[in-house]
Amino acid sequence: MKILELYSGIGGMHTAFKKVVCAIDINPTANKVYAHNFPTTNSINGNIEGLTVNKIKKMNIDTVFMSPPCQPFTQLGLQLDIHDPRTKSFIYFLGILPELDIKRLLLENVRGFELSEVHNMFITTLKKCGFHYKEFMLSPNQLGEPNRRRRYYCVAKKEPFDEATVANLPQNDEIIQDPYTLEKILEDVTTDEYNVPIKMLLNKSKLFDIVYKDSNRSCCFTKSYGRYIEGSGSIFTPKTMAEVDDVYERLNENTQDEIDPETRIKIETELLKSLQFRFFTSREICRLMCFPEEFGFPASVTNRQRYTLLGNSINCKVVAELMKLL
Ligand code: SAH
Repeated sequence: MKILELYSGIGGMHTAFKKVVCAIDINPTANKVYAHNFPTTNSINGNIEGLTVNKIKKMNIDTVFMSPPCQPFTQLGLQLDIHDPRTKSFIYFLGILPELDIKRLLLENVRGFELSEVHNMFITTLKKCGFHYKEFMLSPNQLGEPNRRRRYYCVAKKEPFDEATVANLPQNDEIIQDPYTLEKILEDVTTDEYNVPIKMLLNKSKLFDIVYKDSNRSCCFTKSYGRYIEGSGSIFTPKTMAEVDDVYERLNENTQDEIDPETRIKIETELLKSLQFRFFTSREICRLMCFPEEFGFPASVTNRQRYTLLGNSINCKVVAELMKLL
């Protein structure tokens, strides 16, 4: 396989299968991380719409991996689908695909993509080009990883699939291996850099998705992790569930009592601080997304940028399993 990685980001696809000869992304920060990890790959900083048929033919590739922008399809977004400017480059690529000699293809996107008009265009193009294809909805927690990241995947190739290999993957919501506990991926965090800020503690503590050392789950880390709480990723506490329950019970009692607001805030702050809530570090998130230990970020990439980039990336183990089908 000689692979072209479109919408390459930090290289989740490359991490899953190290045969990428050329990668392209429009985001310079993502490209900096990509080049840091894969210095020998030709990584282009540019727009996919600038890739002509000739340019791609010269790359001498036979396989395409891609994660087109998912914002046009996310359930929380506007779902502009085909009318969202961010789908333009993908529609452009589908337009030139029949002229390219591509033998295998892997696409990742969010849940909801399968219901879109763009998805119809994608499948129609695959059929027109003579691809066999398989579609999946998979999350790493089905494969023994303590993280949720349910995504749409499609693998396509010119030869028929080996149905026995396809059947090895989880069907529907099936869990084929129980996840391990989070203890295995935790770093020994000694600074307060990752602490949840007081304001968030006071205003959002009821919305935290709290996980513990012995939890075998965490929710999907999105690109707004660290900035927003709701639905953006789990919050870690070194305390036990019983200790957390006790504090939340006392917080409830505190709102019922007739205390002056200032004292109440003081008590609440102390109670919440005692739980030592913190965000997961980017290294821990890398581990949950099955990036190897040698995967890293250049020192110039800030923590917030790391969260953003990881939030856009993929689970390498899930993708590696799918690549076996190709
Ligand atoms: N799979 C990648 C992430 C893909 S997210 C990873 O593992 O990190 C989608 C990516 O598409 C983003 O990095 C974004 O910068 C890029 N992108 C969006 N529109 C693009 C375009 N027109 N040309 C090139 N890259 C684009």
